[in-house]
Amino acid sequence: MTTMHRPVGHPQLGLGLVTDHRVRLRPEIEKMEPYRQGKPAAADAFKLSSNENPFEPIPAVVEAIARSSVNRYPDSSASALRRVLAAHYSLDEGQVHIGAGSASILAQLITAAAGPGDEVVYSWRSFEAYPLLVAVAGATSVQIPNTAAHRHDLDAMAAAVTDRTRVIMVCSPNNPTGSIVTADEFTAFMAKIAPTVLVLLDEAYIEFVTDDTAVRGPTLLSSYPNLVVLRTFSKAYGLAGLRVGYALGEEYVLDAARATAIPLSVVEMAQRAAIASIEHQAELLERVATLSALRDEVWSALVDQGWSVPRPHGNFVWLPTGALTIWAAGVFADNGIVARAFAGDGLRISIGERDSVDKLLRSAAEVVRKLPTSAQTTALD
Ligand SMILES: *Cc1c(COP(=O)(O)O)cnc(C)c1O
Repeated sequence: MTTMHRPVGHPQLGLGLVTDHRVRLRPEIEKMEPYRQGKPAAADAFKLSSNENPFEPIPAVVEAIARSSVNRYPDSSASALRRVLAAHYSLDEGQVHIGAGSASILAQLITAAAGPGDEVVYSWRSFEAYPLLVAVAGATSVQIPNTAAHRHDLDAMAAAVTDRTRVIMVCSPNNPTGSIVTADEFTAFMAKIAPTVLVLLDEAYIEFVTDDTAVRGPTLLSSYPNLVVLRTFSKAYGLAGLRVGYALGEEYVLDAARATAIPLSVVEMAQRAAIASIEHQAELLERVATLSALRDEVWSALVDQGWSVPRPHGNFVWLPTGALTIWAAGVFADNGIVARAFAGDGLRISIGERDSVDKLLRSAAEVVRKLPTSAQTTALD
């Protein structure tokens, strides 16, 4: 055994002694912080850190899951679900791609389009998975700071495009700031982007949007062949634990995503539950409307408390707590609320059970009193 710990010569490295026995990993991967999930909530606390849907599945979804086989591999292309979605959006089946969560489709598309030396442009702060997925692809992130009103700075994003840019990600509503890109802003933006650059419009929270001016990707697909829209069953449809999301776009672009996908990762339970969810969409969208109304209630109450926070359009609110973020997360935790803290920046708190709202607002009231007034008066446009 002792010989294993002694420096050894390496046949391919010639005479030199290898003294570092650690496996050689890609440095850009080694320095990445692994994805951290929202903390598990204490028994009596509300877990509002992962934008999950608080509702249990409807009976039709439970039945669909119970009918699913587990000893057989799933349908690798999720053809039944693709047919349902293609009909829903009046697209060809080839223009629909299913993945184990839309985050996995993001990974596929980034990997398909961008490699070492290529750039991926997105707004920051946005979805925390973006920088990780870009790094895994070996590409370079170009992060464009949000405006003072916590919105995408689309002009700056368009200006950041170079001949090395392969992908641009637009997140509307933006996680974690909750802001939307309007349809007018988006079409003005697309007019500036070369058709050879892939634009990913991440609409993970679109079902919660009640503002008519917001961009809605599917209607724009025929105008922009370089646009791919990403949606998920995780948030509005309450299937986060089953991992199923989809992309809509040009068939050859989605074929490239399919080529990079790990085969058979969308399980039959997920495929069947998603189909049942579309068949019972009206029932599920009532729940979404309940959550959106509760979100608006929470937002008005926050504004009344003195918060200057952007109007939220997803199933979460953003509190720009800046340097006090970690302390603020502690205040929420003491009140039985697990929030997602982005140190130095802000807190993202999901809209969950109605019973959580009192605790949420009590915590927010305590926090806002300690904030420097500048943080309460961020300009909103
Ligand atoms: C939650 C989320 C997703 C995807 O979630 P999946 O569970 O992988 O479908 C994608 N984008 C954003 C911005 C999200 O917040």
